[in-house]
Amino acid sequence: MELKICHMYPDVLNLYGDRGNVMCMTRRLQWRGIEASVTRLPIGSSPSLAGFDLVFIGGGQDFEQQVLLADLHRGKDREIKAAIEDGVPFLTICGGYQMLGSYYETYDGQRCDFIGALDLYTVGAVQRMIGNYSFQCEASAGSSVVVGFENHSGKTWLGSGVEPLGKVLSGFGNNSQDGTEGAHYKNVFGTYSHGPLLPKNPAFCDHLLLTALERKYGKAELAPLDDSAELLAHDEMCRRLTKG
Ligand code: GLN
Repeated sequence: MELKICHMYPDVLNLYGDRGNVMCMTRRLQWRGIEASVTRLPIGSSPSLAGFDLVFIGGGQDFEQQVLLADLHRGKDREIKAAIEDGVPFLTICGGYQMLGSYYETYDGQRCDFIGALDLYTVGAVQRMIGNYSFQCEASAGSSVVVGFENHSGKTWLGSGVEPLGKVLSGFGNNSQDGTEGAHYKNVFGTYSHGPLLPKNPAFCDHLLLTALERKYGKAELAPLDDSAELLAHDEMCRRLTKG
């Protein structure tokens, strides 16, 4: 078995070491004897997503989101939409998550027209939403409790065609108002959680990998790994967050 992973815009969307998530997926596959390859698609690369089994898009600041807009609308927008409708799993973080929605309007009124692959939009607030946080994934996204780190000005609002990824347990999530975090549509998982999202949340990582393997091979199983170090980090952060 093998997964072909696409890392889209690694040159501009890589805040807080988001690419560590790609390394985590690769290792967790290899440790189980499953092959993994990673192809980077920076600005200027061919837009084609043909043949990829999983797509990762990290986060970036408003500036980077504006920098990539022209390239996005030169064909990657159509490719992303087609891949999503075809059920390709995506993990998208913060700026990369916002990019799949219709638009992002910054708090000072600058508008980025994105791709509308997901029924959501984002509007910037003056006060940024920053800090460690946690959320409980919906059953359709595996039910695990995820600990992460968020830093965004954008408040994201989901339309009727898209489900939240989870419910906020502590922190801000999509918009600090409706208790939702992230988005789940077909096999797209969008979240505000940066940095070592997958290393700290092995259950969520495996849910994503299993989704990709089952889509490709029909049936798949992931052998258990020794996650004791990862779970120590996860559980300690849960403990700190619930202590307030
Ligand atoms: N520019 C977006 C915001 O501030 C995304 C930031 C990010 O990816 N951390 O809302």
